[in-house]
Amino acid sequence: MYVLCVRQVKNPPNPYLKYSSEFIGEPPETKLEVFEETNTKSMISKSWTSDMGSRFIVNCYRGCIHACTYCFARQYHEYLGYGAGTDFETKIVAKINAPEVLRNELKRTKQKIPYLEFSFATDPYLPLEVNYKLTQRCLEVCYEFRMPVAIITKSPLITRDLDLLKKLNATVLFSIPFLTTEKSNPFEPFTPIPDARFRAMKKLSDTGIRTGIGIAPVIPGYNDSDIPLLLEKARKSGATKAFMSLIHIDTPSIEEYFIQKIEEKIPTKKSRILNHIKREKSGTLQHQSFNERNQGKTEQWEMARNLFDLHFKRLGFESFSRKEKVEKKRVLPVQQKLF
Ligand code: SF4
Repeated sequence: MYVLCVRQVKNPPNPYLKYSSEFIGEPPETKLEVFEETNTKSMISKSWTSDMGSRFIVNCYRGCIHACTYCFARQYHEYLGYGAGTDFETKIVAKINAPEVLRNELKRTKQKIPYLEFSFATDPYLPLEVNYKLTQRCLEVCYEFRMPVAIITKSPLITRDLDLLKKLNATVLFSIPFLTTEKSNPFEPFTPIPDARFRAMKKLSDTGIRTGIGIAPVIPGYNDSDIPLLLEKARKSGATKAFMSLIHIDTPSIEEYFIQKIEEKIPTKKSRILNHIKREKSGTLQHQSFNERNQGKTEQWEMARNLFDLHFKRLGFESFSRKEKVEKKRVLPVQQKLF
């Protein structure tokens, strides 16, 4: 465990707890704490949504130091009894048995899984991954089983695993919703800067790894005008896949924290941004139905969508459909071939 002071503790009340407390006076500074989970039972989470179908997801950590203010995974920290605010960013759980658990699970389930996605509840390449190497070791397990993988990250640390990703024939999507550090910083305070992500994209693309860009979230009135240049930069960095999606705020806790961070970082833009989001979501910041989650309602959203489609076609991108097969070549796992 190690400790790093970064900011003051701030968490919206946890809806799963009976009581919540407030600090009298200034809250203390946060400490980065790492908890090693030893009783992980399963590493593959199945998720199903009407737009994406079935997904099989692997996360080696809980919580995310990158601390994106819009992150929908904040709600999962509340299930652990932590807060969706700074707790999510500083109380990180490392599933130290992840590779062994994944191996045992794949022995039983590999035939039912078309491919695994590394992402969703955390960034698979958090700074902690330098030491723990849990994502790397899980990818090695995937290679043993010839299990295709797709990864979404904001971190250039992924270039460390370049050879492994190549062997896996992986698809790597970089989440880059903002063009400049200035625009990224209020929403992505502890992520690698956008240019570092583009450089990592280029490095992977240059070695033949399939890469893409996720312009997600689009925050109407803030970064929708960045779409053409983001796509252009991604294409120049070798990306062939691209997708975009509208910001979605899934829970009251995330909404509270998101508003608080906008107030802190860009107070003069607060009303404009929040009003824009509300217009896309029937008047509230949180969506009222699943269909509203990733799609807007206004002409401005349509224009952003059309802008994306226009430059997507002009630059020759292919869409990243989770329903598409990630070039699956089902061959016997290494262990089985030994017998
Ligand atoms: S990098 Fe991804 S998982 Fe981490 S805080 Fe940002 S959006 Fe959430």
